[in-house]
Amino acid sequence: MKYERMINSEQETKALAEQLAVRLHAGDILTLEGDLGAGKTTFTKSVAKGLGITRNVNSPTFTILKQYEGRLPLNHLDVYRLADSDEDLGWDELFYGDAVSIIEWAHLIEEDLPAERLAIQILRLDENARKFTFMPFGKRYEQLCEELFE
Ligand code: ADP
Ligand code: MG
Repeated sequence: MKYERMINSEQETKALAEQLAVRLHAGDILTLEGDLGAGKTTFTKSVAKGLGITRNVNSPTFTILKQYEGRLPLNHLDVYRLADSDEDLGWDELFYGDAVSIIEWAHLIEEDLPAERLAIQILRLDENARKFTFMPFGKRYEQLCEELFE
């Protein structure tokens, strides 16, 4: 099952992210795929806002991981620069803790990801329009998508 949503403005992207955020539980894993400029970081910023995180959330591209405190803690990863790395960066502790994890370019660490997760793909259609595709892996995320898109 997958869920598609057409988005016409950055404001709609932010609204979708905030609607998702209020439904998130401890330990939830979200992966974000999409070309540069698709809106992965923009989406993440609004998830953070919806989690009650007041600190500014920036792209973590040069640090790979940033962590924030909110209603739930947030791990924000951008693994774009890990493409050719075989390092063990201790993902297990990160992904199996209480924080929500959001991973930009997650396919680059596919083998380190928990099997159950919500995969979100963002396709840039034009300057402001996007197509979001939500693909739940596992019961928890199927339920989450049903709530979100009911
Ligand atoms: P990524 O992290 O995928 O590289 P960013 O979120 O950093 O992308 O950048 C997305 C850019 O596209 C931002 O400049 C944002 O203002 C712009 N934008 C325009 N319309 C949208 C939209 N509907 N959703 C998300 N971003 C949008
Ligand atoms: Mg980004």
